[in-house]
Amino acid sequence: MTQSPYDILFEPVQIGPVTTRNRFYQVPHCTGMGHRYPQAEARLRGIKAEGGWGVVSTQETEIHPSSDLTPYNEGRLWDDTDIPALRLMTEAVHAHQSLAAIQLVHNGLHAPNRYSRLSPLAPSAAAVDGNDPVQARAMDKTDIRQFRKWHVAAARRARTAGFDIIYIYAGHDMTLLQHFLLQRHNHRGDEYGGSFDNRMRLFREVLADTKEAVGDTCAIAVRLAVDELLGAEGIQHDGEARDIISALAEEPDLWDVNLSDWSNDSQSSRFAREGFQEPYTEFVKSVTSKPVVGVGRYTSPDTMLAAIKKGKLDLIGAARPSIADPFLPNKIQQGRLEDIRECIGCNICVSGDNACVPMRCTQNPTIGEEWRRDWHPEKVTHDPGRERFLIVGGGPAGLEAACLLVKAGHEIVIADVRDTWGGRVSLESTLPGLSEWARVRDWRLWQLQQVQNAELYLGSALTAQDILDYDVAHVVLATGADWRSDGVGRTHRRPLDFLADRAVLTPDDVMDGALDASADSGPIVIYDDDRFYMGSVLAERAVQSGRPVTLVTPSPVVAPWSEHTLEQARIQTRLIKLGVNIVPLHLLCGCDDETITVSCVYSDRRRDIECACLVSVTARSPNDGLWNQLQQQQDQWDAAGIKSITPVGDCVSPGLIASAVYAGHEYARSMIAVGPVSPLREDNR
Ligand code: ADP
Ligand code: SF4
Repeated sequence: MTQSPYDILFEPVQIGPVTTRNRFYQVPHCTGMGHRYPQAEARLRGIKAEGGWGVVSTQETEIHPSSDLTPYNEGRLWDDTDIPALRLMTEAVHAHQSLAAIQLVHNGLHAPNRYSRLSPLAPSAAAVDGNDPVQARAMDKTDIRQFRKWHVAAARRARTAGFDIIYIYAGHDMTLLQHFLLQRHNHRGDEYGGSFDNRMRLFREVLADTKEAVGDTCAIAVRLAVDELLGAEGIQHDGEARDIISALAEEPDLWDVNLSDWSNDSQSSRFAREGFQEPYTEFVKSVTSKPVVGVGRYTSPDTMLAAIKKGKLDLIGAARPSIADPFLPNKIQQGRLEDIRECIGCNICVSGDNACVPMRCTQNPTIGEEWRRDWHPEKVTHDPGRERFLIVGGGPAGLEAACLLVKAGHEIVIADVRDTWGGRVSLESTLPGLSEWARVRDWRLWQLQQVQNAELYLGSALTAQDILDYDVAHVVLATGADWRSDGVGRTHRRPLDFLADRAVLTPDDVMDGALDASADSGPIVIYDDDRFYMGSVLAERAVQSGRPVTLVTPSPVVAPWSEHTLEQARIQTRLIKLGVNIVPLHLLCGCDDETITVSCVYSDRRRDIECACLVSVTARSPNDGLWNQLQQQQDQWDAAGIKSITPVGDCVSPGLIASAVYAGHEYARSMIAVGPVSPLREDNR
């Protein structure tokens, strides 16, 4: 067998009584499916195993109704009736010789128990996380004994369900065991609070209980947050985290270490680079001989190799890289490095769980659709009837449709009016912090450049007549959308007439270099009614011009939807640090050449803001002109040999890049389906 520099990544690693076939470890991550969509959950995890992940974990799995995260779709092991759903997953994972791990959790004061209506539990009486008007009660000794029994019962059930690795979870500031460890949550005066040893007591007990109950056949993993980035207010990697791991060094069979809370653990590429957790986690191997797994959005085989060779980790942990490319390990093993669909760090996957729906991914449109629509991330039926497709527009929707059609054996011609591929992705990836987003374009373009059945044309503005003359069976219109300049968005549903009287820049103008071209040095005002990332990245971009910048938004905070991607606090902090003047809860109500007038959304009180340059970030208009024209000429399609013309992506419904990719993929699947297209199946176990 030929040697590969990456062979070390494929060595087996013993984890207590079990052995993983390689060093690729899909750490626990939410899917937005859990107990609500067990078939979908099982298929998704099984595909990770098929793609080469040696260990595949569940998401956090509630051990008792007093840890009830409804309406979030997490795992559940409240009683024996939950075992069959989880067995679906272990069977799917074992079918590919991988190990199945389960992350048991009691969420303590993080669980408001909206469905079970039980009293939340905590080391000390405290308000629960979030805004629910309920407090957790301080656990008495009976509660503590009960909790230990629940954990043991859940561990036994997990073994019955077929799990090989069972987690004890103290991370993300959302678990009871971590709450007992942390001084800010644990104010007890008994043997479970106060000193380091006392705060460790419950953790030690649960670890010992679990080992005794199932440790003969199952590996016991500890997931511990080693830093909360809160300074002395939280756990620190060079403080108590080191003490905890030193004290329990050889007790568990595996240490899974990371940052807390979730927004620190899953930092987006706008805020953190690959391997960003290493400075916090690399000490762990020096205090234990047990295998250590850590994360840091590892997508590059060389970075993974370095982490192993330099003795920072034993196992490469991944959530997002395994979502973007479930076949990442197999591709490394087969030497297909260029084929790896690298995560772009946009955290759209996270938004699924946060919005209580199955996850979606910008890079991998099949995620979450493995069971529901029977989509596989790598396999596609080879269509026996080869046809010719013309794709107008080489943004994410057009490129994705092209890739899948080509893979199914069709012939495609893709054309774009610009001189670069990627559409909005190419433009947006030039904005501060978004450079990794270009991977959406690069991966697809590379796929198309490898095959004979794709013709690619830049600088080609296609008209309706060009299309009718082209001699193709199917036409895809993936012509995208343009940002509006008339103020219409979520707040103003009709054009703001006063904007017609002054110059207004759109995000498209800024991305085309309008700010660089301007000799003006007066203040820039960004009016953001879009409410996701664009307003804030443009504010960062505007700051680079050296001019004073104000961001006005009708919402209470900057970029409110970025709560779903765990970025909101970081975005607002960054803008404040950059000196951006933030004016929340105000809408645009007037302007002249030097000022804009804004009014409070509640009181209608008005104020003027100096403004030499107004950038309006409100909504986008679909580029549906071609589609409208071609619809009017439908009587000519037959004579032109055209069987179908279909608009997809932003030209239909402007949205996330992930949605455009999905739309392109869905279109292609619909054209290559042999037999009926899979309906959206309901997951009734
Ligand atoms: P999506 O997100 O739906 O893929 P984008 O806006 O990213 O949409 O990409 C649309 C692409 O379509 C852009 O690159 C644009 O230049 C191109 N385009 C729009 N109209 C035409 C046309 N008539 N002929 C060729 N290309 C077009
Ligand atoms: Fe990565 Fe974005 Fe996909 Fe999440 S949604 S896995 S961050 S590419």
